[in-house]
Amino acid sequence: MNAQKPVIAIDGPAGAGKSTIAKLVAGKLGYIYIDTGAMYRSVAWRFLQSGEAFSPELAEKLARSMVITFKPEASVNRVFVDGTEVTDAIRSPEVTAIVSKVSAVGGVREEMVNQQRRMGEAGGVVMDGRDIGTVVFPHAQVKIFLTASVKERAMRRYKEMLAKGEQVDLAELEQQIAERDRQDSEREISPLKKADDAEFLDTSDMTIDEVAEHILQKVQEK
Ligand code: C5P
Repeated sequence: MNAQKPVIAIDGPAGAGKSTIAKLVAGKLGYIYIDTGAMYRSVAWRFLQSGEAFSPELAEKLARSMVITFKPEASVNRVFVDGTEVTDAIRSPEVTAIVSKVSAVGGVREEMVNQQRRMGEAGGVVMDGRDIGTVVFPHAQVKIFLTASVKERAMRRYKEMLAKGEQVDLAELEQQIAERDRQDSEREISPLKKADDAEFLDTSDMTIDEVAEHILQKVQEK
């Protein structure tokens, strides 16, 4: 019998509710939550800070030299790059617009995947992303591919942003999400894809609690 606590891999496209669900599940189980999207966003943020024109070489160099740390708090998972807090900055439209380009760079992925494996090797983690069940932890005990229609995902994001007092256009949001899905699914290295043994969960008509409950049930069955 394997005494190590499981790794729970939650993959899926942009805005499928992965981070909300992963955080909730991790909290209920007392596991560590690791938001791998925040790591790629941190590299993209660092790239924008450099003021340089995009190049895969520089993206890789920055990714390999920066230190990304998480500080989980009750309501928010704070993120730091070389000691500077970037929790809000990595969610900016500028970062969102270039993150898929940065995350397609092989050297950037190699570095992030190594860090993610180190963070999860002891088990007891819920990790969300695009390639957790396929590449980072292909032997994860629980694998979920979370999705919802583009319309539903755009609507959720729209409501989230409105609640924060941000001005957004729903149609534009829908188009941005579809474009990011396209880039993430069509890239050569570790594209967004359901692992063969992952459970496909369409959450369009499910509440957050229903999804979390479903995953917790699966963990218990292991
Ligand atoms: O999850 P989130 O939408 O914050 O991820 C931001 C971007 O980071 C994705 O659009 C994708 O390009 C990249 N990403 C990735 N692999 C992961 C997690 C995120 O390529 N495991």
